[in-house]
Amino acid sequence: MQDRLGDIEKEALKGIIASKTKEELEGLRVKYLGRKGILTGVLKGLGNLPKEERPKVGRLANEIKARIERALKERLSGLSEQKGPRVIKGFDPTLPGRSLRLGHLHPITKVMNDVCKIFEGLGFSVAQGPEIELDFYNFEALNIPPDHPARDMQDTFYVDEKVLLRTHTSPIQVRTMEKMAPPIRIIAPGKVYRCDSDVTHTPMFHQVEGLMVDKDVSFSHLKAILTYFAQEIFERDTKVRFRPSFFPFTEPSAEIDIQCVICKGEGCRVCSQTGWLEVLGAGLVHPQVFRHVNIDPQVYSGFAFGLGIERIAMLKYGINDIRLFYDNDFRFLSQF
Ligand SMILES: [Zn+2]
Repeated sequence: MQDRLGDIEKEALKGIIASKTKEELEGLRVKYLGRKGILTGVLKGLGNLPKEERPKVGRLANEIKARIERALKERLSGLSEQKGPRVIKGFDPTLPGRSLRLGHLHPITKVMNDVCKIFEGLGFSVAQGPEIELDFYNFEALNIPPDHPARDMQDTFYVDEKVLLRTHTSPIQVRTMEKMAPPIRIIAPGKVYRCDSDVTHTPMFHQVEGLMVDKDVSFSHLKAILTYFAQEIFERDTKVRFRPSFFPFTEPSAEIDIQCVICKGEGCRVCSQTGWLEVLGAGLVHPQVFRHVNIDPQVYSGFAFGLGIERIAMLKYGINDIRLFYDNDFRFLSQF
């Protein structure tokens, strides 16, 4: 009798482990422990056994019954775990992960890098200087003495009478010429400050200026380099024109226009129906500027140019309000 009970247990446990569904498990429960089940039958038949065997067999049958019940319960919980998502303390490992947002360069930084790269490719090196500047470097050395009407062209933030926030990166050109002897080929990128704010002006903006000084540098060199630049930063077939202009620190001076990138010269709102957009100011370095830094204008000549990075970025990306660059609106910035 005891051997038979052992066989029943072995068979039952084997079946439970092999079962794959809840229905299968329920079938096994009925088969062994149900009202007409095998083990139930054994317990019911205890009365037919000799009196002295009854307690021993009865105890064994109950132990086996308990073990089968426990095995059924364990297998059942094993099966239900495999079905739904496995939740561990509120954490669901089957949910897709949250990807990390990858940052990128600000559009101004990007255009600044692009501009510098073009000139570096032409052999210009990058020079830097202070943003809080002496009046001398920002104005006087650039042929703009005190009380000169040209000072009105730039609304200046003064720190005190002799110190100001630079209104252009041109002081870097003066500082470079003081330190270096020609030949000089530099670009000066950086932040500049003017008391001005509307859809095309911000009190702080970015400029890149360039300077080339050597023997026999002429206006045709300037034209070639700036035409090449405009066609690199915009499109290869961009038309460029040079218009006579005035700056105190260059003579002759020119403003450089490109064919409107929006209407291709047809005339639109952005170019005020002219078909042209102003992007650069330039000219041959004024002899007076050379004298301030002890370079002999009889021996050397040079050209200088300057451009606003925001202006280039607005035209390149079709942005109509300069202030968008500094609002830090993620919806705007994430487009670049
Ligand atoms: Zn246009």
